[in-house]
Amino acid sequence: MIIGIDMGHPLRGGGTGAVGIRKETDCNREVGKKVIAKLQAAGHTVINCTTDYAETQAQGLKDRIKLANAQHLDLFVSIHFNSGGGHGTEVFTWSGKEFKEAKEVLNSICSLGYRNRGIKNGSNLCVIRHSKAKAMLIECSFIDSSEDMNRYNSEDLASAIAKGIVGQALSTSTIKATKPNSKDKYTVDYCLEFQKWYNNITQTKAPLREDNIYGSATEKALQTIANIIREF
Ligand SMILES: [Zn+2]
Repeated sequence: MIIGIDMGHPLRGGGTGAVGIRKETDCNREVGKKVIAKLQAAGHTVINCTTDYAETQAQGLKDRIKLANAQHLDLFVSIHFNSGGGHGTEVFTWSGKEFKEAKEVLNSICSLGYRNRGIKNGSNLCVIRHSKAKAMLIECSFIDSSEDMNRYNSEDLASAIAKGIVGQALSTSTIKATKPNSKDKYTVDYCLEFQKWYNNITQTKAPLREDNIYGSATEKALQTIANIIREF
């Protein structure tokens, strides 16, 4: 995956983020740098969309979006901490769309003990509205909540976020097709059907194993067919 990571607000200038028990900019970077390292270690390409200085808040947002939109990203992630009373974790997406990475990041962080505040409509947030790629803004927890700040651990949060982001990418090659229930005669082995069809139509010397398991070879074959169809 190619993932854009925006570590929230600039350090200096306009729009430097919230200050509570801790400074948001410090936490954004502490967590963000670890997320980047973890994603890179897992073999993903990370585009750092963070800027350290902005003349104004609006300029800072513009700069970060420009970095994000300068290339194709599979996912754009903006990391923040909340403030203003309350506690817990929330994730903003376009129209509050509950796409897989957003749900997994939220659940993964909340499994650390933070209150689940849900996936919310972030269509009015600049980075969500202007990102060409699928985007999410994570409010990890509240910078002014003693409960949240007592729980704060940048390593745990970074692991939770990285796991949530790559969860989908890892699972695509490990999804196993459900074995049909023998009692249900209407169950169809879609995966097996495809494997048989592919082997038949391509007459390949390296046929797919007809095992009804959606592994990496079957996935690759499916993508090959999808590409051929697309070219038509
Ligand atoms: Zn923020």
